[in-house]
Amino acid sequence: MASSTKKNLDLSKEQVRFHLYVALLLYHFGIDQGFGLEGSGDMDIRRIRLKHYYKYELTFQCKNPLTMIEQQFEYIAVVDFEATCEDQQDNYQNEIIEFPIVLINVQQQTIVDKFQSYCRPIINPILSKFCTDLTGIEQHQVDSAPTFVEVLHNVETWLNERKLLLPANKHTFAFATDGPWDFTKFLQLQCQLSSIPYPQWATEWIDLRKEFAHFYSVKRCGINKMLAKLGLTFDGRPHSGIDDATNIARIGLELLKDGCILSLNDSIHSSDPKSTPRNNNNDDDSIVFKD
Ligand code: AMP
Ligand code: MG
Repeated sequence: MASSTKKNLDLSKEQVRFHLYVALLLYHFGIDQGFGLEGSGDMDIRRIRLKHYYKYELTFQCKNPLTMIEQQFEYIAVVDFEATCEDQQDNYQNEIIEFPIVLINVQQQTIVDKFQSYCRPIINPILSKFCTDLTGIEQHQVDSAPTFVEVLHNVETWLNERKLLLPANKHTFAFATDGPWDFTKFLQLQCQLSSIPYPQWATEWIDLRKEFAHFYSVKRCGINKMLAKLGLTFDGRPHSGIDDATNIARIGLELLKDGCILSLNDSIHSSDPKSTPRNNNNDDDSIVFKD
């Protein structure tokens, strides 16, 4: 009796494996199987995408299983700071000069809003040529901008207007970044330089680079490589804060579409940016802090 049960189980496991294999082959050759799965992306990504689809199909036993997944947050706000910098200078006091936010409506799986402001640096008010060449941000843009403290106030007003911060009638919401550096390095340092407390809303966040590697079972890598793996290309100018944030949001949207549950996976108390060295991913969009 026991052995026949075991045999049946083995058989069904094998059947599942066979189905998965055939489905993957068909998927690989672009044959539509009615799953509504994204056709782009490299083999690693397609394999995991299909595997998750099957996992949820088995769980929910219905035709569009990915639509059954319950997400934790209604909104995700992608942030990507740009800061003053010099080439190869350790312990440089980076001041935030661009504060962009790209807002994702999780259920709609679309970008629904954007905030963008430059910030005027105080300690090093003149941008280095290296910084302007890297970020595309010009001197006149920061000269006419509010200081970081004023921008932070505008950000909080913007978030409140969208019912993302105030406790009453608040939507569930989280910030997302590419790696730990935006909050652990740039925001933390800027708050010290501006002598203001570190904002409560930035103490925990979704590190999309970390989640991407975990969900698709690939090595951690930078924006360009994540996009390439998804069969996409960078839209806009790399190292422009708003364009970086938009492209990071596009990666977040692909994760959502593929059934990844985006939840908080890093915090100011637990994160160690040095434990995520930029060189461990062999990425060609590598930069000093992020890759
Ligand atoms: P990113 O989001 O990749 O554009 O980088 C954020 C910030 O990190 C930039 O605004 C710079 O302040 C700093 N940064 C990026 N790459 C470099 C680099 N190669 N050298 C010095 N600073 C950099
Ligand atoms: Mg950037």
